[in-house]
Amino acid sequence: PAQLRDILQRQASPALKPRGQDRKVYSAEEVAIAIENGELINYYQPKVSMRSSDVVGVEALVRWQHPRDGLVFPDQFIATAEQYGLIDDLTRRVLLNALRQCRGWHANKLRLSVAVNISMSNLVSLDFPDFIVEAAKRLEFDLSLLILEVTESQLMRNPLTALDILTRLRLKNITLSIDDFGTGHSSLTQLRDIPFNELKVDSGFVHNASDNASRRAILEASLDLARRLGMKSVAEGVENLADWHFLSSLACCDVAQGYFIAKPMPASALPSWIQEWQVRRTGLTE
Ligand code: C2E
Ligand code: MG
Ligand code: MG
Ligand code: MG
Repeated sequence: PAQLRDILQRQASPALKPRGQDRKVYSAEEVAIAIENGELINYYQPKVSMRSSDVVGVEALVRWQHPRDGLVFPDQFIATAEQYGLIDDLTRRVLLNALRQCRGWHANKLRLSVAVNISMSNLVSLDFPDFIVEAAKRLEFDLSLLILEVTESQLMRNPLTALDILTRLRLKNITLSIDDFGTGHSSLTQLRDIPFNELKVDSGFVHNASDNASRRAILEASLDLARRLGMKSVAEGVENLADWHFLSSLACCDVAQGYFIAKPMPASALPSWIQEWQVRRTGLTE
């Protein structure tokens, strides 16, 4: 059954597909030690306004700088962390690093938002909102620039507690984003019941949408849904110029993210990437 669950989960989310042939799965002990030793670092992927092509923010994506195996991707340890009660510790560290890092960019006149991925298993302790509020206060971080991207990989164990925590976060002016919309449990029910204010259309409906009738229909309907619910829309998986042009022809997508714009990069690479983008962006919008 565990194997079956793994297969089903991977099919549901393209982001969970194995990357290499030698995809190693790590034990809970190894992951716990990595968290403890500070071996997890944040990569950042830029998000760009479709209207102006300005860089509006970044998404933090965790990586494990493994002492022997090199860079390890989240699909090799997030599920283990969730399963063995390590995700709370992991998320808090990713969050602190993201706030600190982004605060540094703000100090250098780059007003960027930062998005952090959380899983439903983070929404069990009622002190989670206070943890974020206190960290933001300490770092003088403006919480209107924090986005929490929620992915529901398993069914919620305690939906009322989760809703309570999400509502508290929303009241602190944090943006709540429904990630991988259209896949897994990122459903219309969640959209109805949870005070989300950003919708991320999954890459499976974005890349090559122009030459696939069903992708295109789902993409357009999702963007329309976001607009009608007063939510900001983000398209993931913009992989090439054709994807960008098609999205831009729809004229209703707020933000784009994907390999066409940039792959996730270490924090130190971001300022020079932004310089390069100032050249590359010309001609993308009129
Ligand atoms: P996600 O939140 O949907 O993040 C987007 C994933 O798609 C990232 O994979 C990113 O590198 C990849 N991606 C970006 N642009 C493109 C594109 O144009 N085409 C394609 N095919 N893929 C693209 P990554 O970094 O391997 O992360 C995978 C998933 O792991 C994330 O999916 C997220 O759900 C989870 N994750 C990452 N960091 C964290 C974290 O700190 N905490 C938690 N709980 N989950 C995390
Ligand atoms: Mg995400
Ligand atoms: Mg996610
Ligand atoms: Mg996603």
